[in-house]
Amino acid sequence: KVMMEKVLWRRSMQLRDEQRSWQESRGGREMLEFRRSLPAYKEKDAVLSAISQNQVVIISGETGCGKTTQIPQFILETEIEAIRGAACNIICTQPRRISAMSVSERVAAERGEKLGESVGYKVRLEGVKGRDTHLLFCTTGILLRRLLVDRSLKGVSHVIVDEIHERGMNEDFLLIVLKDLLPRRPELKLILMSATLDAELFASYFGGSQIIHIPGFTYPVRTHFLEDILEMTGYRLTPYNQIDDYGQERMWKMSKQAPRKRKSQIASVVEDALKTADLKDYSLQTRESLSCWNPDSMGFNFIENLLCYICENEGPGAILVFMTGWDDISSLKDKLQAHPRLGDSTRVLLLACHGSMASSEQRLIFDEPEDGVRKIVLATNIAETSITINDVVFVLDCGKAKETSYDALNNTPCLLPSWISKVSSQQRRGRAGRVQPGECYHLYPRCVFDAFVEYQLPEILRTPLQSLCLQIKSLKLGSISEFLSRALQSPELLAVQNAIEYLKLIGALDENENLTVIGRYLTMLPVEPKLGKMLLIGAVLNCLDPVLTVVSGLSVRDPFLTPLDKKDLAEAAKSQFSRDYSDHLALIRAYEGWKNAERDYAGYDYCWKNFLSIQSMKAMDSLRKEFFSLLRDTGLVDANTTSNNEWSYDEHLIGAVICYGLYPGVCSIVNNGKSFSLKTMEDGQVLLYSNSVNSREAKIPFPWLIFNEKIKVNSVFLRDSTAVTDSALLLFGGSLSKGDSDGHLKMLGGYLEFFMKPAVADMYLCLRRELDDLIQD
Ligand code: ADP
Ligand code: MG
Repeated sequence: KVMMEKVLWRRSMQLRDEQRSWQESRGGREMLEFRRSLPAYKEKDAVLSAISQNQVVIISGETGCGKTTQIPQFILETEIEAIRGAACNIICTQPRRISAMSVSERVAAERGEKLGESVGYKVRLEGVKGRDTHLLFCTTGILLRRLLVDRSLKGVSHVIVDEIHERGMNEDFLLIVLKDLLPRRPELKLILMSATLDAELFASYFGGSQIIHIPGFTYPVRTHFLEDILEMTGYRLTPYNQIDDYGQERMWKMSKQAPRKRKSQIASVVEDALKTADLKDYSLQTRESLSCWNPDSMGFNFIENLLCYICENEGPGAILVFMTGWDDISSLKDKLQAHPRLGDSTRVLLLACHGSMASSEQRLIFDEPEDGVRKIVLATNIAETSITINDVVFVLDCGKAKETSYDALNNTPCLLPSWISKVSSQQRRGRAGRVQPGECYHLYPRCVFDAFVEYQLPEILRTPLQSLCLQIKSLKLGSISEFLSRALQSPELLAVQNAIEYLKLIGALDENENLTVIGRYLTMLPVEPKLGKMLLIGAVLNCLDPVLTVVSGLSVRDPFLTPLDKKDLAEAAKSQFSRDYSDHLALIRAYEGWKNAERDYAGYDYCWKNFLSIQSMKAMDSLRKEFFSLLRDTGLVDANTTSNNEWSYDEHLIGAVICYGLYPGVCSIVNNGKSFSLKTMEDGQVLLYSNSVNSREAKIPFPWLIFNEKIKVNSVFLRDSTAVTDSALLLFGGSLSKGDSDGHLKMLGGYLEFFMKPAVADMYLCLRRELDDLIQD
């Protein structure tokens, strides 16, 4: 023990000396000066003394004030100066992988080090961490996985949970677990950081912890709502007075107008427009009524026009455009690149910023462009609080973000762009005032802003809880509903029950809510339970290779691109991969084709020609490897195997595996001469997304369609589907666990009866029992 302490002490001394000599170098001095200019620096002593006196400290401060990069460093530096550096272990969680990566890189640079020395990061699939890493940035998911195997976080001295204002599901879950852990680890410090001021909620949750607020400074930002922008760019707004051809709600129509109207008149045009759209009482507007105002329908022309206006009429400074998601960003980027002024790379540096971009791509965002070049960044809401782009002067805010919401009554997840909250809108505006007074253009009228909710609903209250419930069980945290009742804000009982029912239905939990064998395996795989099930059965049935492709394809952004202006071409390209009425099999063929092309160094051309995303293909490639090695760890794949088992192409077998995973995602196909229709038990008639290969078929000669996901927009739409036979559904749909299979067999029988085929039911149920026994063995 004495030897150990000596080694630690010596290493701590070294760490201190290295850091001191960096701070005395020229680069180090400049960096220190920059760091001292940040608002967080002024609160350094207050923060450190609060941490030493309390187990839980909550720090709030405006985005960019230095919470993420400075606070963990303050702790590390204090420990290093006190010659305890080698013994401290700080974990700082980030809600997104891209911020974990960019922040760790930045902090290492501030310390004059390379990543992997005292600072490292770990996200799924990637990480840099060395023997001397004492400050680790990771995603919240990574810390939760660690808790699976290391319940008391041995050796960790500080846990910092960043961006808690976002109220993601993982963060809320982590807080319950940490709250239980704190009394057992009295020397462990917990620091929560938030970009908004709602610290009281967290403080009372942890029973009165100290709150520190870092006062920030931003330059004033001038706010323009749609009314003002229209005037500047010479547009006017007129309402459609009737329901349009598609039976949609009323939208507004924009038209270029020759003589500009005066500002007050424009404002009244917008007001009129809103009034005629039945928004009778402004003060009583609800979020629902806002769905009538649709910035998306203004199209990209409007944004393009506004960007031109800024480039031509305003001073220098980067422009940050908030969009709803990756697809919008990429279509707008394509459009702007074709524009004579904005696409001219000697004058404009056009960049995208979203959660799934590569690290090399993201570094460009922070670089300052050459003189005379205007930087334009198209971003999702990750640029709202977690990533700070320094030189932004102009912000365009479309007012929406894609969020998953969950309708517990229909048990259907919806992924729709929805209105952001007032707090988000203000955050977006604040991004413009970091280096000088800025301008923010909200692409919606003021009265729409007035109707925004104050805060966003926490994710735990609006998404399905299946993975969360499995995690609770595998961490042996007791009854699911009891555990969740201890959350900061507990989800509805109905949502919890739905999740538990689903897990029972797929055989992950038994009647008493205990993990089954399958459930235990599922918690080892970091994918949705349904995808995990596919991997398991793929391994068991020796057809893992194609299954790895399907599962990784469903875990990344859709590899089949459908640019709006080339929709037909793209869909035709996808349908070449289709032979057996299956999007999943099309995916396998597309991937195989890409692998072959890669061998001849023609992967890029291949993707371009076939409307495939090369990033998705590469991501699939690395996910396949990761899943394979995880499966080897579970022992289901022979540990000595180095490659996935050889694939003999058997589309029926693959269909069965898909059915095993995606059940109860099943609908019946009713072929009627020229066309077919689809029905599920819960929703009645459902439709296919137009990019499904099955939507191009006139007829599907199978009775069932297994689908990956259904999404409620106006009607219920199915994404990614595979047609299967009766036998596949009957033998592979539902749970294969022995103890409770009777219940599920009844349910399967119910499906049969529902679709009027009782005659064969008994025979299949018999077969099914035998197969269950076989697989269980
Ligand atoms: P907060 O977490 O409070 O939002 P950060 O600690 O992320 O703030 O950032 C503090 C400051 O550090 C930012 O205002 C920015 O000036 C600078 N900064 C952060 N990341 C980078 C980076 N990758 N490159 C250059 N500067 C950065
Ligand atoms: Mg931060």
